[in-house]
Amino acid sequence: MKFTIFSRLVFGYLFILVLVLVLSGYVVFRIGQFNEVTRSVLMTNNRMVDYSGKLTDAILSQVRYERKFIISKDQAFYNQFLHFKNDFERYLEEAMLISEASQAKQFLVTVKTSYQHYQSLLGEELRYLEAGKSYPQGWFRQEKEKFSNSILEELEKVQSTIQQNTNEKIKELYEAGVEAYQMAIGMTAVLLIFGITLSYLINRSITQPISVLVKKTRDIGKGDFKGNVNLSSPPELAELASAFNLMCNKLGELDQMKSDFFSTVTHELRTPLSSIKMGISLLTEGREGPLTEGQKELLMLVRQENNRMVGLVNAILDLSKMEAGMMTYQIEQKNIVPLIDQVVKEMKPLVETKKIRLESEVAEKLPIPKIDTERFLQVLRNVIGNALKFTPEGGRVNVSVRTIDQGLQISVADTGPGIPEKNLGSIFEKFQQVNAKGPYKTKGTGLGLAIAKQVITHHGGKIWAESKLGQGSTFFILLPA
Ligand code: ADP
Repeated sequence: MKFTIFSRLVFGYLFILVLVLVLSGYVVFRIGQFNEVTRSVLMTNNRMVDYSGKLTDAILSQVRYERKFIISKDQAFYNQFLHFKNDFERYLEEAMLISEASQAKQFLVTVKTSYQHYQSLLGEELRYLEAGKSYPQGWFRQEKEKFSNSILEELEKVQSTIQQNTNEKIKELYEAGVEAYQMAIGMTAVLLIFGITLSYLINRSITQPISVLVKKTRDIGKGDFKGNVNLSSPPELAELASAFNLMCNKLGELDQMKSDFFSTVTHELRTPLSSIKMGISLLTEGREGPLTEGQKELLMLVRQENNRMVGLVNAILDLSKMEAGMMTYQIEQKNIVPLIDQVVKEMKPLVETKKIRLESEVAEKLPIPKIDTERFLQVLRNVIGNALKFTPEGGRVNVSVRTIDQGLQISVADTGPGIPEKNLGSIFEKFQQVNAKGPYKTKGTGLGLAIAKQVITHHGGKIWAESKLGQGSTFFILLPA
């Protein structure tokens, strides 16, 4: 049976809740027991001690007044005796009631028997007194004393039994307290271990499949579209995994379609342009007969436009490939100084035509960065080419290379028209041309800097421009080294 995330969480929480309830139940039960013992000590034992004290006082007072009455025959003493007699009988009855189920009960029974003997002896003596007959006073006195002493002894036993019982109960209470304390600590520890283990297992059973999905998402980001996520539980994530696999397969199909599209478009666009180029060359060479000057001029124009078209198609295809993440880069460690020299050399005809002073400044001990040579040359050609293109005749272009904290920095500064501040960012977006009108109107695709940004970003670097209108521009390329 496969548990859903919901049921796992509910089961986990319920289980922990039950454990907490068991622990609380145990603690409440033990506290109830303690209360019971404490109540019995307070209600029974304390009251019994109190009653035995009162009974002792009452019997001593009875003996005292009964003797005084016998000697003096004063009715007031007899009344006092009766008062304490009543008290004694009431206390004894009450004490016997609360002593039910206690060891003191048997002593109270003996007290009652001795008291009955004492009372019957006294009754007999009083009858002799009333009749005015002589009787063995000494013997009565001795017998009564025997029973009153026995009552006092029994009451003492009651007190000591109760005291002993109280001590035992306190001891029991203490031991039970220690036991409950240890039990509660033990149960809390078990509860904690269970709770933590259970939470860990439940969390792991949920987060582990999520990690698998996260890893697969990363793989998709890197271009691995294989739909091979295999999750069987929990059911929600298993369903997500199968949806994921479906998505991967679809992405794979789209990726394949994109590749097919690029190769078809590349072929379909380049083939006719190459044919046109070849046709123009054949016509220009006079293979189809001599050409008039007008025809030659026309063919020159067609060739120029065809070349521009080839450049545009190549740029669009390059940029599209880069944006689609399909451009392949051959990264290797390469010294960039010879590359700069190569581009400067390539630009020589334009430099000479426009009489521009093109200088390069290269610092010593430059690090060797990791680059794709062809793509990097493409960036240099664009940035240095732009500087020459936008710099008016007789101007200056300076290329410099140096090391800064973050890496290797190439800067290309010119004395061209400059770029308005608001356009310094947008010129790196495709088809953004700032100087397309006016005296600096140039023929360009508006794609060169967008391609340069893609290439440099792929190398982990940065490209940006700084400029002041009318004072020229400087383009910076930063490569990690
Ligand atoms: P383009 O083919 O038009 O040169 P780019 O992407 O290379 O396309 O450049 C985009 C725009 O940025 C250019 O059209 C121009 O307006 C501006 N730009 C680039 N380099 C310079 C520069 N050195 N001086 C002034 N403007 C420049």
